[in-house]
Amino acid sequence: MLSSSLHLDLDLDSFPWPAERPVAVRVHPVAERALKDGHPWLFEDSITSMSASAGAGDVVVVFDRKNRFLAAGLHDPENPIRARMLVHGEPAEIGPELFRHRIETALGRRSEVASRDTTAFRVLNGENDGMPGLVVDLYERTLVIEVFTVAWLPRLREIVPALRDVLAPERILLLASNRVGESDLCPPEAAHGSVLLGTSPQGGVPFLEAGLRFEAHPFEGHKTGFYLDQRANRCRLGRHAAGARILNVFSYTGGFSLHAARGGAAEVVSVDRAEAVLAQARRHFDLNRGDPQVSACRHETVEGDAFEVMSKLARSGERFDVVVVDPPSFARAKRHRDKALGAYRTLTGLALPLTRPGGLLVQASCSSRIGAGEFHDAVTGVAETAGRPLQDLEQTGHPPDHPVSFPEGAYLKCVWGRVP
Ligand code: SAH
Repeated sequence: MLSSSLHLDLDLDSFPWPAERPVAVRVHPVAERALKDGHPWLFEDSITSMSASAGAGDVVVVFDRKNRFLAAGLHDPENPIRARMLVHGEPAEIGPELFRHRIETALGRRSEVASRDTTAFRVLNGENDGMPGLVVDLYERTLVIEVFTVAWLPRLREIVPALRDVLAPERILLLASNRVGESDLCPPEAAHGSVLLGTSPQGGVPFLEAGLRFEAHPFEGHKTGFYLDQRANRCRLGRHAAGARILNVFSYTGGFSLHAARGGAAEVVSVDRAEAVLAQARRHFDLNRGDPQVSACRHETVEGDAFEVMSKLARSGERFDVVVVDPPSFARAKRHRDKALGAYRTLTGLALPLTRPGGLLVQASCSSRIGAGEFHDAVTGVAETAGRPLQDLEQTGHPPDHPVSFPEGAYLKCVWGRVP
């Protein structure tokens, strides 16, 4: 199980109040066009003048050359994305009313995701739900907020009551992205996760995904504690699993493995370099022993570097009916793109010999800097060169609770191909 640690409560009033008066901003023509088209980011080097200096979370209003309102957003004095825009075209007040409206709209869009069998989903997907730099995930009655810009810190006193009113959670947890956590504007007790409402979770936060029992670990895990974005792909894998032997590489806490087992897989091997997440994967199998398919499935965990483990498995002649490869983002910056594409190719090259003829390769990428087209070309190119061109190809992307409203918001893509 992932370890648990102590977290201090945070006083939201300890943050400075945002300035009452908005700051007027002028920008370069290219940025004017982007904002006019609804882009949510205003970069530092696009700004030509500001009517006053602005602090974190202050409202900035951008006017065009003819003094017409373009957009309004929240200021981040430390990030190259200097302001995240919430309002475009028509002026509107940025404050509790707007936040509440955005939350309600976002919830409305997700009515088909949440059910008795699926009790965890993304409530707010940042920019794509008109709340740039703010992510909110719900795990049953636990709400996890993650802030990706210091602009939201002074606004938590507005956002938290709005979330509480609309969703009535029992617990609210706050996470800071690495960048926010390292900022002097972020109090130390917020940098490593804090409790805003209710009690600190003891162990994992339980929830259901398509009827399977899972636990999220917001403070120790990745993202807000679970990869909710892969839900639809996990469910899809379950439909390809009957009787199969399945290799799940970069397994994290075994999301794909559990869906495979419940789908009737005879055997699943989960590979990850972190023993703590593999222990949680084994716990997830234990939690679902009540399901006859899960209890009949053999599950093995292998701790180690994915590239090395895959080579070793191939050398010892192991073959699988389905190979799932879902690595972390390899391209966090533009300059890493080529290296990332190279790593995706290497992984395809390692997965093919492990896939028996007629088997299925499922390979995903979560790098927003790699487009769906070039990822597809990388994977299929390697398969073709290896003399095993992928058949019945399908590509999947974001689930409905992770909507995409601007180009940089699209990061998740997954290639499904039959390996001849
Ligand atoms: N498929 C998972 C999410 C994968 S996240 C799900 O549906 O929940 C990526 C995982 O890759 C993390 O658990 C991380 O520990 C692991 N990882 C990163 N680099 C690795 C490497 N070189 N070898 C093995 N595992 C690695």
